[in-house]
Amino acid sequence: MGIKVCKFGGTSLADSAAIERVAGIVRADGERKYIVVSAPGKRDKKDEKVTDLLYRCADEARQTGDCPTFLLIKKRFKEIVKGLKVDIDMEGELERIRERIISSRGDRDYAASRGEYLNALILAAKLGYEFVDAADIIKFDRKGAFDSEYTNDLAFLRLKNIERAVIPGFYGSTPDGIKTFSRGGSDITGSIIARAVGADLYENWTDVDGFLTADPKIVENPKLIDMLSYRELRELSYMGAFVLHSEAVFPVRKANIPIEIKNTFHPERSTKIVAAEDYDRTGKLVTGIAGKKDFTVIFIEKQMMNSELGFCRRVLSVLEHYEISIEHIPTGIDTMCLVIHSEELDGKLDVVLDKIKSAVSADNVSVFHGLAMIALVGHGMKNRIGTAGRLFSALGRAGINVRMIDQGSSEINIIVGIDNKDYENAIRAIYNEFLINP
Ligand code: ADP
Ligand code: ASP
Ligand code: MG
Repeated sequence: MGIKVCKFGGTSLADSAAIERVAGIVRADGERKYIVVSAPGKRDKKDEKVTDLLYRCADEARQTGDCPTFLLIKKRFKEIVKGLKVDIDMEGELERIRERIISSRGDRDYAASRGEYLNALILAAKLGYEFVDAADIIKFDRKGAFDSEYTNDLAFLRLKNIERAVIPGFYGSTPDGIKTFSRGGSDITGSIIARAVGADLYENWTDVDGFLTADPKIVENPKLIDMLSYRELRELSYMGAFVLHSEAVFPVRKANIPIEIKNTFHPERSTKIVAAEDYDRTGKLVTGIAGKKDFTVIFIEKQMMNSELGFCRRVLSVLEHYEISIEHIPTGIDTMCLVIHSEELDGKLDVVLDKIKSAVSADNVSVFHGLAMIALVGHGMKNRIGTAGRLFSALGRAGINVRMIDQGSSEINIIVGIDNKDYENAIRAIYNEFLINP
């Protein structure tokens, strides 16, 4: 019998009926042995995710020493437990959590992790599976860096004698306390567990039928991607296709485990395996499109910059000093652009500009706000002449001005920068050009 690791996302576990459905899915296939869960997500469009409520509790506790929002969390978990009729001391668990959020004066990572912790306790009780706390097996060092090999060893040792377990997603621990991955991080936990137990398949259960060729909130009924490589998956998820966290690619890739995205609300729909090391790419040009808004571009100009030794290093060391990470660095002969997530520069932009100017004695340093970036991803583009031409014609016909181009050094992507306001139209124009009539 094979082993499947299943991760269920927030909408799949938003209330007792959803959790009941998930229990049915797990029981329907005996190979579904290790289950990773998210915290309860939104029950409808206006609802709030439990994780967001928990972050709010931590902020309240830090500012006022109390967390009134915890009442909402209590209500949600009590409703879930009541609906499922599981035997858990939920009152006691909730009270201990509330006390610790307050006594830690709002430890954000601890607070945020409790949605996954409680949901895992609940699903484990419902299924009769063992609960294994992620804090015991997923490890970060003191500086907060994830320790993949230590984690892999610990998780392997802990799970090798446990036939069936439920594990909370999203967090692990440092020597000092709880630490979470970035938002959406339960996907990473699922991938880590899949590698540790040597799974045959990593099933990622969510609210769409699979990995789509574009964001379904922008393109109506985008086609499904039937197969993609780990590299394509990484590029698409990093560039904005958040159906799978971009860091979830690494553990399964190391162990060559395929990933399948499945729809909790339509488990009968047959989706294909979406990631494998290699696959037949015949006839495929663009595999998918993804993008993100809200970048800032710092444009640096200096004559003879290219022959000036240490120019790039001096610019980059300013950003390192202010702990700002850079997304892209397109360069020209006498120009260099830094494309940075706008939120990274919050409260730091003026000082960074001053420091760059003085570090390299630039002729000109200017800033452009509100850039969106869109990536076309696909192995097929490497050898196909004219792809960039088609892309620019399509954008031109849609009246969209291209502000920046970055033909990725990875050879499997082309990235264009456009105004935020053109983002949705640009995605649709590119989709129509490359995926309607490839
Ligand atoms: P979960 O809570 O299950 O982790 P997420 O909300 O994180 O689910 O991810 C699923 C969502 O990702 C979908 O509802 C969809 O709106 C969005 N999404 C964005 N890009 C894509 C894509 N290329 N393919 C599929 N879904 C996508
Ligand atoms: N609950 C966490 C979040 O909302 C992690 C996850 O859902 O994967 O980001
Ligand atoms: Mg997610």
